[in-house]
Amino acid sequence: MTKAKKVISKERRKQIDRLAQDIKNWRMRSRLGDAQLGYFERMLMSQKTTILQEIEKLDKLRKSEVEASGGKYVADNHTSDPSATDTQISNRQKRLKKISDALARIENNTYGICIGKDCGQPIDIKRLELTPITDLCAPCKEEKEKKEKKINGNSRHHQTNLPMCAPAQ
Ligand SMILES: [Zn+2]
Repeated sequence: MTKAKKVISKERRKQIDRLAQDIKNWRMRSRLGDAQLGYFERMLMSQKTTILQEIEKLDKLRKSEVEASGGKYVADNHTSDPSATDTQISNRQKRLKKISDALARIENNTYGICIGKDCGQPIDIKRLELTPITDLCAPCKEEKEKKEKKINGNSRHHQTNLPMCAPAQ
């Protein structure tokens, strides 16, 4: 008897889980129409093309730099930063990754929905036009930046001017 009950409740729980997942999927579904999604897709694709061309150019530059330095960079060369090109390449690769992620969100129809914890709100279209790679709404982005600032502040052992807690009397 108890065994049968357990089976049913397990089945029920599965149904509930599935329903919750359905609701989550439904909430995360893009609110943008096909025309808008197409517009952002074209925008992102053209940014991707540009960035790929830039990376290609920088790669060539990097190679010529390596050749010019006789196969390797001189580590203590103070006149020029040998890693400048590398930094530029890696910055672009990071951006390329974000563009690819955004294109994937268009592909699976979740583009323009905030991925912030417990948010799932549509991202303002003006914000998307300015930063089409964004996956956070303005309030969530602000929240994230605040947290990052806090973490950075702590890691630098930044002391606030808060008075010390007086012992309870
Ligand atoms: Zn949000």
